[in-house]
Amino acid sequence: AKFREGLAKTRDTFVGKVEDLFSRRKKIDEEFYEELEEILIGADVGVNTVMKLIDDLRAEVRKRKIEDPAELRPVLSEKLVELLRGSEESRGLRMADSGLTVILFVGVNGVGKTTTIGKMAHRLKSEGKRVMLAAGDTFRAGAIEQLEVWGQRVGVDVIKQQSGADPAAVIYDALQAAKQRGADVLLCDTAGRLQNKVNLMEELNKIYRVIRREVPDGPHETLLVLDATTGQNALQQAKLFGDKSGVTGLVLTKLDGTAKGGIVVAIRQELQLPVKFVGLGEKMDDLEEFDSEQFVHALFA
Ligand code: GDP
Repeated sequence: AKFREGLAKTRDTFVGKVEDLFSRRKKIDEEFYEELEEILIGADVGVNTVMKLIDDLRAEVRKRKIEDPAELRPVLSEKLVELLRGSEESRGLRMADSGLTVILFVGVNGVGKTTTIGKMAHRLKSEGKRVMLAAGDTFRAGAIEQLEVWGQRVGVDVIKQQSGADPAAVIYDALQAAKQRGADVLLCDTAGRLQNKVNLMEELNKIYRVIRREVPDGPHETLLVLDATTGQNALQQAKLFGDKSGVTGLVLTKLDGTAKGGIVVAIRQELQLPVKFVGLGEKMDDLEEFDSEQFVHALFA
């Protein structure tokens, strides 16, 4: 139900167009494929992915000797699920076998990083885990206060220093506090300025070193937060963070705010990283574990 609500915009436009195409066209011909291609590209599925999807559909049409577009409709859903699932759909968060789990959140300012941390804290707390937050974004004005507001709302402790402090030092403090207080999970915010990519990567590496020293099997996840409403830009951001940042999974925020939910497919295809969670609103409960089948089902069912 969450997915259906959150994806209303995408369903009404993108899916509406797909349904219209499949019911209006009586034949699967070149014009049909061209129109489908346009709709998919318009929904931010991404050119490469669309080409692959259309090729797959053509192959199925030949193999199954499909003539009626209506028969091809479920095949499109199947193929979308396959593309989304990829080879290694890993669900949920990787947690420490024992002791403290450390999860790092990275991403450009404004994508919804702080909000996602708040929602994640709420989620983990509802599962009975003892959660703490580390205010590692000491750079953006207001980031620390915003995290504190979330901490109060959810009812979890926030470890912070003053604005401008060394993020690695904040994380170090937070790790000590989390261990002392017997926390299960520490969620770490980080700065998201990209004006100076080299500095950002150095800062992240320093944070990694601190975490490894204190929690040898951590960080257990490094989640890159991307804003779905920025479409192909989100893909560019992910490429900027690149291989060196050690990202293990993605959180795609603001899916409720876009009619171009196809971006999930493009991101999944082009990045070879699992989409672990999606943001479907601004409230505490609006973070859902991503599930390819549920996602496609919410769109088309
Ligand atoms: P940060 O700079 O990356 O920490 O971004 P914030 O967490 O401050 O979020 C920026 C804005 O996006 C805020 O107004 C959030 O309420 C909003 N936001 C975050 N996630 C979502 C989401 O999933 N859906 C919607 N509609 N808004 C979101």
